Amino acid sequence: MSVSTTLPDWPPSLTPEQHSHLILLSSTYALTHGFTLLPPSSSQPPTSAIAAPLSLLPTPFPRGLYDLAVSLQPLYNALYARITLDWDFLDRVMGGSVSKVDTFQGELWRGWKSIREDLVQPLQLGLFRSDYLLHDGEKEGISIKQVEFNTIAASFGALSQRAGEMHKYLSKATNGYFSISPHLSNPSNFPANEPLKNLAAGLAEGWKAYGNKDAVILFVVQDGERNVFDQKWLEFELLESHSIPVIRHTFSELSTLAQIDPTTKNLLLPSPLQPSLPAREVSVIYYRSAYTPTDYPSSAEWSTRLLLETSKAIKCPSMALQLSGAKKIQQVLSEPEVLEDFLLGDHRPDVGFGKGAGSLTQEDVDRLRLTWIGLYPMDNSELGKKAYTLATSQPEKYVLKPQREGGGNNIYRENIPSYLEELAEEDKHKIEGEPEKKEGYILMELIEPPKGLRNLLVKGGENKSRLADIVSELGVYGVSLFGGKQVVNQTAGTLLRTKGRESDEGGVAIGISSIDSPLLV
Ligand code: ADP
Ligand code: MG
Ligand code: MG
Repeated sequence: MSVSTTLPDWPPSLTPEQHSHLILLSSTYALTHGFTLLPPSSSQPPTSAIAAPLSLLPTPFPRGLYDLAVSLQPLYNALYARITLDWDFLDRVMGGSVSKVDTFQGELWRGWKSIREDLVQPLQLGLFRSDYLLHDGEKEGISIKQVEFNTIAASFGALSQRAGEMHKYLSKATNGYFSISPHLSNPSNFPANEPLKNLAAGLAEGWKAYGNKDAVILFVVQDGERNVFDQKWLEFELLESHSIPVIRHTFSELSTLAQIDPTTKNLLLPSPLQPSLPAREVSVIYYRSAYTPTDYPSSAEWSTRLLLETSKAIKCPSMALQLSGAKKIQQVLSEPEVLEDFLLGDHRPDVGFGKGAGSLTQEDVDRLRLTWIGLYPMDNSELGKKAYTLATSQPEKYVLKPQREGGGNNIYRENIPSYLEELAEEDKHKIEGEPEKKEGYILMELIEPPKGLRNLLVKGGENKSRLADIVSELGVYGVSLFGGKQVVNQTAGTLLRTKGRESDEGGVAIGISSIDSPLLV
């Protein structure tokens, strides 16, 4: 299957007048509908916003592969619930070399280990996002390959919903994009997509399961977050559609505000604006922070994290669920029989698909595994030694990843060998018997997105577009509320981020990607 038989030539051509009109309509739509980011430096409270980076047209995406990615999400939701409930597995994978060479993961794992026997809340909430790129394999044609699975602070649900709505609007307002392509004239090619609604509903499910109608939801946020409107939409949706109030705080504010009732373990937040009111009880803690070392500038933030973790509130995510989303876990899952054990093992808890194998089959295992590409440990196992040889002899085929989130941390292609040498240099000072620095990384085969697709990308705050060779990353959101058994397991919509092909990474907030929507072909 070659690209040209699957994906149309893109974008169809526009006259300069049509192009200017689309720039005008998209920018006014974005500003009117809160499809926005804060400008790079913003006062507090903010006084202005800019349109989020966008694509002028939706980007063609094969319908069958889109449906496949969406249909896999309940399986992934169940898989990550089972991983999170398997303490031995988390100890083996995250408590080993990784926790010794990676300070951040080490703190997270040791912190969790120190309090996990005292946890009082059996339920955990995951708002996940499984990310994929199209892969153009020589033999098998175009398929989807998973980039990573996010279990903490998976963002852009709200802005993604707005991007799809904007492309539908542009089409309606311009007679199907001036009838420049039959693909754009057919409304059924624009998929229904409501991650904002579904993610808020997921948080509301956590609130309901907690069972106190007076309780609030706490958003733990970063200072100066530019992607704040994506979070505000979730707050508005919770308040307006579910009548659930949200309170936002940074870690440092919580270090002085948060209190735990020693008997009930309720998490309580005083109301500084109305000191006469009793403190508010927190039902769900939703982290849009706490995933990167800079979120923990001192030990005070780690103490706050542990305090919140031991409260009765439902954590989204718990520390264990955050550990499950590590790239090291993704790599170990790809080792022989590990996935079979998680999905088909009789000792696995019922998280929505029955106990053990339940209704799951080898076919389900195979369907998931088909979305994976080569992953290798960087340790001294046989596989690790092979990985080292691959990384140094053919680096152009690989990306080296540390256990980090939030973009901008990976080492690509030709940069890998010298980077590994630097790590080895640092190891010269290590204590005998301690693991090597490289063991905190995984090696991943590069996914090769199909060539030939282009789109018109508009940077935030600019009124012109750039015609770029593009790569689009599809994210599928999932909601999972689970304890000993699954309470909620849902697919929650999708995100398409599109970047210029010349760039390896793809962060929207760091200005590289545009928020896009798929045009199913
Ligand atoms: P993060 O958790 O920081 O988002 P990712 O694993 O998603 O880390 O990597 C960041 C970006 O790097 C991805 O969005 C994608 O653009 C690119 N990338 C990561 N892995 C691969 C891969 N195997 N092949 C091609 N590109 C990749
Ligand atoms: Mg990530
Ligand atoms: Mg990512």
